[in-house]
Amino acid sequence: MTAVLLASVLAVGALAGCGGNNNEGTNTGNTGTNAGTNAGTNAGGDNGELPKVGVAIYKFDDTFMTGVRNSLKDAAAGKAEVDIVDSQNSQPTQNDKVDLFLNKGYKALAINAVDRTAAGVLIDKAKAKDVPIVFLNREPMADDMNKWDKVYYVGAKAEESGTISGQLVVDYWKANPKADKNGDGKLQYVMLKGEPGHQDAELRTKFSVKAVEDAGIPVEKLAEDTAMWDRVKGQEKMAAFLASHGDKIEAVFANNDDMALGAVEALKAAGYFTGDKFMPVVGVDATAPAIQALQDGTLLGTVLNDAKNQGKATLELAAVLAKGETPTKENTGYDLTDGKYVWIAYKKITKDNIADAQ
Ligand code: BGC
Ligand code: CA
Repeated sequence: MTAVLLASVLAVGALAGCGGNNNEGTNTGNTGTNAGTNAGTNAGGDNGELPKVGVAIYKFDDTFMTGVRNSLKDAAAGKAEVDIVDSQNSQPTQNDKVDLFLNKGYKALAINAVDRTAAGVLIDKAKAKDVPIVFLNREPMADDMNKWDKVYYVGAKAEESGTISGQLVVDYWKANPKADKNGDGKLQYVMLKGEPGHQDAELRTKFSVKAVEDAGIPVEKLAEDTAMWDRVKGQEKMAAFLASHGDKIEAVFANNDDMALGAVEALKAAGYFTGDKFMPVVGVDATAPAIQALQDGTLLGTVLNDAKNQGKATLELAAVLAKGETPTKENTGYDLTDGKYVWIAYKKITKDNIADAQ
């Protein structure tokens, strides 16, 4: 008799659990309930345990974000228990991961959105459960940032990296009269763009060219195409640019190092970087292979995109928020602009100051 009663109580409980989870949609129902209860207790830090932070990266297979991810993980030691997941470059997948984090009772989220215009949806979800959210690397629109006071962003000013890439080419142009291969006084360039819509792709493209023009050098764009931040695609697009424009190209801008290094491969295959056949190629990030290319003399310059501080700042903010506190310079070590933006500075890197990037 007691056993039957107990069984029916459990059954009712389970049904209630499922019902509660219907709002969260899809398959996470039961697991969500169970995990939620368990993690909820631990995540609270009741037993002196570390608060749990859910971290969703847009995709693990991204060179720069791998650096950020590793830094974030290292910074978590003794501060938070991080659950870092791969959104596999799919916004629906990321939304599901966020639902799961919230069902598990995590105390703060750190989100590298797949599609930055989807931030609003994620903010609504987090707000409904009063779980603060720190975005990183992919900057939400200002309207979304203003939706709730527990929304933060850690990143770098995209236009600044664009300006620095342009200056790298300006420095080269001024130091090398032969840089103007056809002697027409204009810089003929090609542009390898990152993912369209990403603030770093749009603004680096715009401000790199603007920096050249601002230095008084007229420009002519021979070609521009997206290589989606990807090295192999960068190589393919550069091979196509060479096929149509060949030696008319006087400089190559790439919105990141992976694409710049792909371009270097295509240029090598076309006979560049041997004898005096040179092409100025600039990237952004200062990844380890890019530093190697600076040393080799194939990459002209890059811009340090400080993965270490972006990962660390994200963790510091999330850990403070997970404890129910408000992030400040004192408790995170980082300046907060407008109370919600942490801007990590970029830096110009050439083979003369490689140490600054390491
Ligand atoms: C980096 C790229 C990276 C992208 C990912 C940018 O800031 O420069 O290398 O692929 O972020 O969102
Ligand atoms: Ca020219």
